[in-house]
Amino acid sequence: MLVDTGIGLQDVVRPNRRLGWMFQGIVRPRLDAGETALRQVQRLGFQETDVRDIIVTHLDPDHAGGLSDFPHANVHLFSPELDAAQNPADRMERTRYRAEQWAHKPGFVRQYINGEPWFGFDCVRKPHGLPPDILLVPLLGHSRGHAGVAVHTKTGWLLHAGDAYIHAGELDHEKPGCPPGMLLHQRATSVNLRLCRKNVERLRELAHEHSREVRVFSAHDPSELARLREGRQ
Ligand SMILES: [Zn+2]
Repeated sequence: MLVDTGIGLQDVVRPNRRLGWMFQGIVRPRLDAGETALRQVQRLGFQETDVRDIIVTHLDPDHAGGLSDFPHANVHLFSPELDAAQNPADRMERTRYRAEQWAHKPGFVRQYINGEPWFGFDCVRKPHGLPPDILLVPLLGHSRGHAGVAVHTKTGWLLHAGDAYIHAGELDHEKPGCPPGMLLHQRATSVNLRLCRKNVERLRELAHEHSREVRVFSAHDPSELARLREGRQ
């Protein structure tokens, strides 16, 4: 199973068509085939067909681009996210999603937002058809159906918070902060700022009060990636 797919091989080959000029201009992604999920999976000794399920936190181009590298996988996501991507409601939704990235018609599996409380979060559910140690956590606001993904490991929970926050400083309990440019970008790409703020507050609280039980990280902060790679808390 994969959680998110990052930028895929086709995005590297045809960035203008697949990612669009606006995304490239703002995000300036490093278009390196070696960094794609497929190449990383292969480096771990697996094949593309070994990835049978993918959960996407949301369908922004830097999370969904690699879907086409695993065309046989089921793609699990919150139902409103698929609605937003397939039937965009406004200009923001029309410009953010890139239908070329799922033109291969992956097997989307809609997951619905209802379930149990989990560490102060509501409506957390075990996705249908997936192992019980994986949970989908509604973190709506960045996009219509944005999800966090929690995985229970031998050493506790890992919570991938997607783009619910983008800078580790936002979860700092003593002195929360985020560089102004990143904050602006976050505001410009969120569908509901009130929900976004609430999510960050809850994540900050979770990271502070349950630091021994849950490790929280986001999709984009390289310091968090380095910390996790080294096995640091
Ligand atoms: Zn995003």
